[in-house]
Formats: sequence, structure tokens, C-alpha cells
Amino acid sequence: ALPALNDASLLRTAGLIDGEWVGGSSPLRVHNPADGSFLAEVAGHGVEQAQAALNAAEKALPAWRARSARDRGLMLSRWAQALRSNAEDLARIMTAEQGKPLAEAKAEVAYAASFLDWYAEEGKRVYGETVPAADPSKRYWIWKQAVGVCAAITPWNFPLAMITRKVAPALAAGCTVMVKPAEQTPLTALACAELALRAGLPSGVLAVLPATAEESVAVGKLWCEAPAVRHLSFTGSTEVGRLLAAQCAPTLKRLSLELGGHAPFIVFDDADLDAAVEGAMQSKYRNAGQTCICANRFYVQAGIHDAFVERLAERVAALQIGPGQEAGVQVGPLIDAQALAKVRAHVDDAVAQGATLRSGGQARGDLGAMFFEPTLLTGVTARMRVAIEETFGPVAAVLKFETEAQAIALANATEFGLASYFFSRDIGRVMRVAEALDYGMVGINTGAIGSAEAPFGGIKQSGYGREGGHQGIDEYLDLKTVCLGDL
Ligand code: ADP
Repeated sequence: ALPALNDASLLRTAGLIDGEWVGGSSPLRVHNPADGSFLAEVAGHGVEQAQAALNAAEKALPAWRARSARDRGLMLSRWAQALRSNAEDLARIMTAEQGKPLAEAKAEVAYAASFLDWYAEEGKRVYGETVPAADPSKRYWIWKQAVGVCAAITPWNFPLAMITRKVAPALAAGCTVMVKPAEQTPLTALACAELALRAGLPSGVLAVLPATAEESVAVGKLWCEAPAVRHLSFTGSTEVGRLLAAQCAPTLKRLSLELGGHAPFIVFDDADLDAAVEGAMQSKYRNAGQTCICANRFYVQAGIHDAFVERLAERVAALQIGPGQEAGVQVGPLIDAQALAKVRAHVDDAVAQGATLRSGGQARGDLGAMFFEPTLLTGVTARMRVAIEETFGPVAAVLKFETEAQAIALANATEFGLASYFFSRDIGRVMRVAEALDYGMVGINTGAIGSAEAPFGGIKQSGYGREGGHQGIDEYLDLKTVCLGDL
């Protein structure tokens, strides 16, 4: 059932197009992954509404772009404040449809608001340049201007923060933006849109169109192919990212792709053991292991291996698993049956190939159909699926290594390049390893690396483009070289 809310008007079941709540073409049924219960029927949109949203975004663009960055920033700040004032309700909605523990959902509301705060300010600092010209009769300026209408396709694992992380820099830059949230988590996205309206965002500047899985494909295709859409931002699987990039190629759209990861987590002999175990817990089991920067492979040096595994096993066994809305729960359900099947397959494959289960390893049908125990596997080898593919579940796979060079080679032996982590207190090693890791992000002696002020993103098959930081707004700005001659 739907959670009780302080403000029931946050529960929106229609899409937001041109400032109006609009019904859809094929209904989208939303369920609670903790118990499979039906939550709400949301309007699922198709190509007709996607085109209407695009028309409205085009119409709204000139006036929005012409406003001062200060004005746009004030609206983003009000929106951030609205998220914070409604954090409790937003968290309840998020936990109900996504499954994460309430405390994590509240932390995500704060994280989501932090992108609005950051870009409310950063929008005021879109500076150009003056460049000395080789020809004394000329002058050069480099200006930065909004790219235009943008589209964003977002995932279910951070149903609020992945929206504001894209929308905030786009709006701050002077773009208008259309969002297609994940089919599993439309209610959080719509509550976020309701708060945007309350913050005073003009009609057409922001559209939010929930869609069924099938309609998502059609909506995505329409936006990718439309010449009027100048930028697409996507967070999701590498497979879908490639497809969207191909669809955007004919119109040469600018793209920001934040795709799959397969983060290595290296523990060297000289690491602070307590810190490494703490970092492992943070990086691995948050959101039941369903983040693209979750550690997937733990490479632990021979000298510290047994002590690390022992401590980690204790912590893993103590994790509280259950429905996210229950107090004290640390690990909630997985998002759906497909996710659970993949986690189970990775564990079974590892065990069949000789890995040892140190903790967990079973589905918890007694709690609900989507629960899988926090799991720790040791004796993992490079040939096992868990060491090759993104698991996206609460499974830590530990591999033993001997030398620094070996650890670097193993860590880099993947097509992915999003996040990586390592623990060491040797300053020389810290520099060497950080430089050698082929990843967009490196966490040293920490398992938590994401924050609004730092650019987030990957290399290789993890995609391109950056979100967050002062760099994040550049995705939504075109450079214009202005040359004045005949002086
Ligand atoms: P996940 O495996 O995390 O569900 P996906 O890449 O399948 O990741 O989904 C991420 C987002 O991309 C969701 O909003 C989903 O609806 C959307 N999506 C999936 N396939 C397509 C597609 N072919 N075109 C447009 N959007 C898509």
C-alpha cells in the first residue's frame, strides 16, 4: 500500500507536460519490491506526449535562456529547499517503490538537493574568455551558451538524485529539459516535479514523462532522432547507452553517458584494516549493492587477506536485512526478479567453480520474493562471472593477490572504467596506483566518493561526460568563438 504522507499532494500519477498534469496512453503499474504489493497506477506516456513535451520545451526555451543566471539559480535554490522541507515524504515514496532503507532514501533527498544548490551557484559562473589574437586588427571572445532543448533518461537505483544531477546543470545553463524516469520509480520523479512547480519553474521548462518499458523505447527513439533535441543525458546500462548513442548519431547530438561499472576495491598489506573494512561495507552494501560505483571485485593482498576477510565476514553477517521502511534495516530488497536471478547466478557460478561462501549466499523468500542475503565469497578467480560482469547486488567477491603490479593489472582487466577504490598508507604507492588505475574515479582510503562538487563519470565502456563539479555544467553549454575584425 502507499505510505502515509504529511502532504498527500506529493503523490502525482500523471506526467508533467507544459506545466500541466497530463494523462498517458498506456498505464504504468508501480509495485513495492519489498512485498510485491501494488502502489499506484501512473500515466504511462508514448510518442504523442513525448512530442508534445518537446514542442513545449522548444517554446519555453527562448524566455528561459534569456533570464539571468541569478533568476534561474533562485528557482533552483527554492526547489532544493522544497526537497529538503519534504524529505520525509520523498523518502517514504522512494522506499516504497525502490526498496532502499529509509535512512538511505533520506540521504538521497539531501544528495539530490545538493545538485540543485551547486548549480544554482555554478550557473552564475559561466565565464567566457578573451583571447589575444595573432592578427593585431582582430579580437577574439569565447562565449558559452545553452545547448538548447535537452532530454534525460534516468535509472531506478537513485530515482531522485539522478534526475537533479542532470536537470540542475541543464536548467542553470539556460536549457529546457525533458525527463523520462525509470518505469520502476515514477512516483519519486513526479513528486520531484510537483516540487519544481511549487518552486516556480515556468511551464515547459521541465517535463517529466513516466513510461512503460515498451513505451520508454519509443519515447527514447523520438527524442534521440529529433533534431530539436540538442543533448541527451543517460544513466543506465552500457547496452542501452550504446543503443542511444547510435540513435543520436544521425543528428550528432551531444551525449553524456553514465553507464555500467565493475569497480575494483584493492586492499594492500599496509592498509588501515578498520578503514578498509568500513570502506568495503560502505561501497558494497549500500542500496543492496545496486549502484554503478559499488565495489564488485575485492583484491586483497596475501598478508592482510585473512584478517580482512574475517572482519568483513563479521560485519556482513551482522547486516540487518528487511523491508526498507522498517527501523534499523540496512539492506532492502532487490528491484525485481531479473535482478535477483542475476545475483543468484553469479553466486552459484562462483561456488560451482570453487569459491567459498563465507556469509550469506541465499535468497530470503521468507522476507519477500526480492530479498537476497548480504553475501561474502572468497577464493574467487578471474574466470568467474562475478569477477567479469556487474553483479548489481549485495555480493562481495574476494580475490587474493601478491604484488602491486598484479593488483593493478587485475583491476584494469575489464571493459569498464567508472569507479575504483584502494586502501594503502604508503604515499609512494598511493601515487603510483592512483595514476595507474584506468578509471574515471579513484577512491583512496574511502568507500564513498560521490559529492556534488566533484565530477562523476567514467571512461571506456562506462561512458563519457561528467556530472557534478564546475565541469558538469559544460555538458549543457556550447562554445561560440566570436572574432571581431577590421579594428
Ligand atoms: P537498468 O538495467 O538499470 O534497468 P536500463 O539501461 O535498462 O538499466 O534502464 C535505464 C533507463 O533507460 C530506464 O529509464 C529505462 O526505461 C530506459 N531505457 C531502457 N531501454 C531503453 C531504450 N531502448 N530507449 C530509451 N530508454 C530506454
